[in-house]
Amino acid sequence: MNQELSTHWDAIIIGAGPAGSAAATLLAEYGHRVLVVEREKFPRYHIGESLIPFTFHPLQRLGLISRMKSSCFVKKYSVQFVAPNGKTSQPFYFFNRYDRETVAQTWQVTRAEFDQMLANHARSRGAVVVEETKVLSLLREGDAVVGVETQGPSGETRVFRAPITLDASGKESFASARLGWRMRDPYLNKVAVWTYYRGAQRDLGLDEGATTVAFVPDRGWFWYIPQQNDQVSVGVVAEGNYLTRGGVKSPEDMFKREVGQNRWIEDHLSSGRQFGPYFLTSEYTFHSRHCGCEGLLLAGDAYCFLDPVFSSGLMLALKSGVMAGDAIHEAIVARDFSPGRFAPYAASLREGIENMRKLVYAFYNPDFSFRTITERYPEMAGDITDCLSGDLNKDYTRLWEVIREFAPLPDALPVGMPKAATPTGVAA
Ligand SMILES: Cc1cc2nc3c(=O)[nH]c(=O)nc-3n(C[C@H](O)[C@H](O)[C@H](O)COP(=O)(O)OP(=O)(O)OC[C@H]3O[C@@H](n4cnc5c(N)ncnc54)[C@H](O)[C@@H]3O)c2cc1C
Repeated sequence: MNQELSTHWDAIIIGAGPAGSAAATLLAEYGHRVLVVEREKFPRYHIGESLIPFTFHPLQRLGLISRMKSSCFVKKYSVQFVAPNGKTSQPFYFFNRYDRETVAQTWQVTRAEFDQMLANHARSRGAVVVEETKVLSLLREGDAVVGVETQGPSGETRVFRAPITLDASGKESFASARLGWRMRDPYLNKVAVWTYYRGAQRDLGLDEGATTVAFVPDRGWFWYIPQQNDQVSVGVVAEGNYLTRGGVKSPEDMFKREVGQNRWIEDHLSSGRQFGPYFLTSEYTFHSRHCGCEGLLLAGDAYCFLDPVFSSGLMLALKSGVMAGDAIHEAIVARDFSPGRFAPYAASLREGIENMRKLVYAFYNPDFSFRTITERYPEMAGDITDCLSGDLNKDYTRLWEVIREFAPLPDALPVGMPKAATPTGVAA
């Protein structure tokens, strides 16, 4: 690590993924001195490759739309659904509801390139991003977080101080794990197995970049995401017990068995060549009991991760990064980093997460299908599309009433607000 780096910063960010880089970009643009500490050397591999239409807004706020338009990333105009027998739904084109030139066109990205672009963008705005340096611990003074201790590539440790630290460390949720705030979802308990192909079949023209969601029996599903360089990302999501049934242990065997469960996936992969590892996650859904405490805020997956099914992760990471950047800027200006200041941030983020969570619960309910709902309530099609596209802070009361006729939906979890200072001065 650069020995010249100052010890004191206006803000420190853990992780240079989409959430961290988004927040860093804005904070640097506001003129603050911001340090991003990233464990890996970029470009680095990461899963999470399909954007949804409402990612447009945070990308626009970051000034990245023209960069995205001229990038190598495959353009995504639609999503389609495929039954286990190979029967394919009509592609749903986003431009049937949104403006063709803006929200309706999104992208399939490879994260090595996408995240590198975001981190370099933050650097170009003045943020200092140090790689190959991991955060080891949060510095505490009473209830407050006042900085981080880091370890650089040669094992050297350093302390950096700031009145506010943003945890954007992704699914490992650095702060939440250490502060005992990690909570499982009462119902969502899926795992994923995935790999990559070259030369696998893809549709032509407008449909070339379509995401395909292909169902396997027992409520599992495949993603099929066409990427640049003739690459396809393909993975299966289901409960762990289902994927390991019969004692199957290796990710490759799990994956191959499920490929045989969906005709469309099998046909599309038959012309391709698999390459690289087979990846496997553990159960990934989690919520943080709090969004932060004095001197600490959480964004992106470090705050909550639901499920990959509707590809909302990157949109939420970028959006929360932008929101965190704005909220932290206001805190720096006011010189007030008390927990209550971040309550509106948390309320807005949680509202969006809870809306998406309801839709995810419905999706995994065997009695639910979007087609049945829209056949009986055609007027609900627009709301369903909006929620699926990532327009999450809307009033969906009527939609939830309608869906509850088919499937139970969860109440909002009473979590995610800032942790107030304790009277004893010891944060739990
Ligand atoms: C199987 C699966 C499929 C998915 N598919 C999609 C999809 O199609 N579309 C979509 O939008 N989302 C998808 N997601 C979700 C998506 O991957 C995440 O939501 C997204 O990456 C979150 O971004 P982030 O910036 O919060 O965290 P990350 O992208 O994980 O970035 C966090 C960064 O923090 C760094 N870091 C961690 N700990 C430390 C530390 N101690 N010190 C320093 N640095 C640290 C990491 O190296 C990393 O670079 C999927 C997720 C899974 C599990």
